[in-house]
Amino acid sequence: MSSGLPLDFQPRSKGGQVARNMRIVCVGGGPAGLYFAVSAKLRDKNYDITVIERNPDGFTHGWGVGYWDDVLDSLYRNDPVSAREIQRSSGVWSGVEVHVGNKKEAYLGGYGLSMGRQRLLDILAERATDLGVDVQFHREVKDLSELADADLIVASDGVGSRTRQLATNHWQTNVEVGRNKYLWLGTYWVFDAFTYVFEQTPAGWIWLHAYYLDAERSTCIVECSPETWEGLGFHELGADQSIRLLEQIFERQLRGRALINQIRSSADKLPWLNFRMISNTNWYHDNVVLVGDSAHTTHFSIGSGTKLAIGDAIALATNLAQHDDLRCALKSYEEQRRPEVTAIQRNAAKSMQWLQNVADYTDQDGVQFAYALSQRFRVRQPLWRYHLHLATQIPALRSLRRTLTSARRSRHARLRERSADPPAAASRQPTPRP
Ligand SMILES: Cc1cc2nc3c(=O)[nH]c(=O)nc-3n(C[C@H](O)[C@H](O)[C@H](O)COP(=O)(O)OP(=O)(O)OC[C@H]3O[C@@H](n4cnc5c(N)ncnc54)[C@H](O)[C@@H]3O)c2cc1C
Repeated sequence: MSSGLPLDFQPRSKGGQVARNMRIVCVGGGPAGLYFAVSAKLRDKNYDITVIERNPDGFTHGWGVGYWDDVLDSLYRNDPVSAREIQRSSGVWSGVEVHVGNKKEAYLGGYGLSMGRQRLLDILAERATDLGVDVQFHREVKDLSELADADLIVASDGVGSRTRQLATNHWQTNVEVGRNKYLWLGTYWVFDAFTYVFEQTPAGWIWLHAYYLDAERSTCIVECSPETWEGLGFHELGADQSIRLLEQIFERQLRGRALINQIRSSADKLPWLNFRMISNTNWYHDNVVLVGDSAHTTHFSIGSGTKLAIGDAIALATNLAQHDDLRCALKSYEEQRRPEVTAIQRNAAKSMQWLQNVADYTDQDGVQFAYALSQRFRVRQPLWRYHLHLATQIPALRSLRRTLTSARRSRHARLRERSADPPAAASRQPTPRP
């Protein structure tokens, strides 16, 4: 990979001091860039922070973001103001439904939260602006020479990060491309539970991961093998024809409601993609640091990318506030984040592989299949979990399990609200002496 830097490019700081008024530029206003800006300003209001986002204000690609209580806990610990807004804008889904062709449906326990990606970004952009961050929409960074006066460049520009590619080839980026095709859509049917729908077509299996988006819509991720994709003709069909075909395939579970496609390509094709799992051996170089999807991606089937982006943002802001020396701050940030990221990427890879081999499991009855789906990235579970799964198929016991889960969730929420405090002012660690 060649460096795209102009020959006269000189970063303003090469791992120097973390000055109180340091100039920080985040390239990309997704969850990682915006939440880092919020978190850094909360720790030191003197930072001069700009977030540059290529999309116009109020426009993003993508639908719902699913997450769990652990994310809300860290949001509350870090910034209760935006956390409350995020919680208010989220829906809670209770339980998981698994539909496999004409088999009897099966149920899993648990609960989670989800909200529209656009709403999340609106909340974060507004909070960042209130804290004094300069959020610039509709500006695309094309060359790092535009940012030559920045003390720190935060590469928060996502999976295809141009900043990562322009800054250096020092990262040792690894990209693993998934086999399956996927598509991120919405629908006007509101799913109460997180719902998987596996349908068999003459060309093979195709499935939906569907979950709450807002009061009127749900998120639908469609996934299938490349053979099924081609066999159904998606490589040739125009966008509207493709949507109609998908609506027919999933008609039963969509209750006849429409699917919604957000992106229209000039070639009039749906934006099908192959998932790209990104990992980097190094997360910082000189004054450029990777956060969120530019540093690592996790397969969408485990819904953890935003969680990791937020975790990175908090850790980077905390380390900047704690260290006098920029290089020490970046090194410590990377060391703190890598174990969690590696563990989640490992699970995400298992989940991706399981779904790539899904046809090996579809002969099982619905209950067995649902259990295998729920265990796809887990280490061997004790036997009682399987018995709990069998019990969950009985309506009265399922309802009891939901009531208990809901009580647990409410208690957790009350404790979280009570203990919410803004992050403590950090005390910096001095520069280590050579
Ligand atoms: C189908 C699908 C479903 C998903 N579902 C979930 C889920 O349920 N839960 C979950 O936690 N995660 C989910 N994810 C993952 C999640 O979307 C990402 O992990 C998360 O958005 C990463 O945040 P980020 O800020 O690092 O990157 P992004 O959200 O990709 O943001 C990067 C931003 O940078 C901007 N940008 C890029 N280049 C430039 C440039 N040169 N100049 C200026 N701006 C630029 C982009 O416009 C974008 O706004 C899903 C992903 C996919 C693909």
